[in-house]
Formats: sequence, structure tokens, C-alpha cells
Amino acid sequence: MQDTLARATAESGRIRAIAVIGTRLVESARRRHGTFPVATAALGRSMMGAVLLATSMLKPPDRLTLRLLGDGPLGAVIADADAEGGVRGYVQNPLVALPIKANGKLDVGRAVGKGMLVVSRSMGEAQPYTTTSPLVSGEVGDDIASYLLTSEQVPSAVALGVLLRATGTVKAAGGLLLQVLPGGEEFSAELEARVQALGAISSRVEVTASADDLLRDLLDGFKNVRIAKPSPLRLRCTCSRTRASRSLLLLGTKALDDLVGDGSAELKCHFCGRTYRFDLPQLEHLRDEVSAQQA
Ligand SMILES: [Zn+2]
Repeated sequence: MQDTLARATAESGRIRAIAVIGTRLVESARRRHGTFPVATAALGRSMMGAVLLATSMLKPPDRLTLRLLGDGPLGAVIADADAEGGVRGYVQNPLVALPIKANGKLDVGRAVGKGMLVVSRSMGEAQPYTTTSPLVSGEVGDDIASYLLTSEQVPSAVALGVLLRATGTVKAAGGLLLQVLPGGEEFSAELEARVQALGAISSRVEVTASADDLLRDLLDGFKNVRIAKPSPLRLRCTCSRTRASRSLLLLGTKALDDLVGDGSAELKCHFCGRTYRFDLPQLEHLRDEVSAQQA
């Protein structure tokens, strides 16, 4: 089953819905970061959430970064997505294990803890636009819905889910964003009932072939349902040697002098694990570049 994203509208655009299926890419992220189950769930939900927000709020080539900064054992959980289905993410402490909750689910809320949800939108070269809202449960979906209501004034239902096998690998991962736009308030109660009836989104994803099927089920019976052709979702990192050099330049002359003294430097991308090595001549070149700028 391919990872897909689909959007839909209904009732003459007064209802807006986006669905994502990201089972493969969450599994790739799990393997890449070696996450334990509760970390896999938090990371996967955050990545699906970032895709939903980016798809609903941005136009290419803008990007969006979601940071869950809680006081739980996971530390920061970070996911970043573009408006074209590209996403990446990491969790500060991937090796966290917590007891399963009484309802049999992973305790993502406790693993994330209390704190803030920070959403930054990068639009071209301008400074990113950052909004902060308190985490309501640390379960990710509720936190994003609360952010959308308080910061964007859009009442939204957000369902995010990651289902794991007993071995810890990802069996299903997906998400759903439902929004009622002004003039569509009369549909709120019905939509809420539909989301409730769906049950756990991850179980639904497990038996669904594509994101547009999810939307078809959800919006069945509403008027003027329009579902766009689904598009692929991909794990995509934007790191590069040029970006790594740029971040070294930002360190300034003093820090670069220290690195020159060390003789070499390594920068590791948190998102994909790629390492960028800089040898002595390269570091000297970067230091000279900064010195010249400052002269
Ligand atoms: Zn990378």
C-alpha cells in the first residue's frame, strides 16, 4: 500500500477534509532512528500532523515545522513538512519505554508531557512565522486541534494514529483533518459523530487502500462531495552540504577558529542521520570567509 494524501470538500466548500496514509514512511523513520514503541507513535503522529497542517495552510514552496516541547521523557518531538507531501521528523530521546495504559494504548501523552506546541511557517526568505500554544494532552492530535482553534480560529477535528505490531514495527499510520469553515456550523455535530464512528484512525488505515477512500467513507451522504486525486507522501530531508556549511558559518570566527584547532568537524543531520565532514582546509576556508565578511 502506497503512502498517500487526499483532500476533499463538501457542502459547497463549507466542509474541508484531508486524509493521509503514511505507514511506510513512519516505518522508515522508525528504522532510521531506532525508536522504541511510544517514541515511534509520538513521532509518527507528529509527522502525520505536520503533513495535515502543511497541506491545509501552505502553498509550495513553503514549509512548516511542528515542535512538541514537553517535559516528558521523549524530550522534543520535531516534524517538518512541505505543501507537496514531503515530510521528515525526529525525536530527541528515541529510547523511551513506558507502561501501556489501562486501555491497552501506548502512553504518548505521558511520554510527551506538559509544555508547548510550537508551529513555525517558513515562507521564502522571510523570517519564519512562529505560533505557540499549550499542549492540552500531549497526545498530538488534540494538541494540534487546540492550536488550530486558538491560533488560527478554525474549529477542527484532528485524528492521528500509529498502530504497531508486537515486534514494534509499524502496521498502520495515518491521520485525518476535518474543518468546518464559516457558514458550515450546522454540520459540526454530524461530522463529530462521523469521526467518533470511525474509531481508531490507525485501525481504519489498516484496512483502507488509499487516503481518498477514507474521505469517501467519512463524507458519504453530504452534498457536493469533491475528492481530489490522491498524491504521494514521501520521507524527504532537505539537508545538504551547502546548508551544513552555512550553519558552520553562522558559528562565527571564534568557534570556527576552535574547529580549525581541532583539525576537522562533523555535522550530523538530526532528521536523516547523514553526516557532513569538514577537513582542515575546508574549515580554514570557512573561517577566512567569515573573517572577510566581518573585516
Ligand atoms: Zn538530513
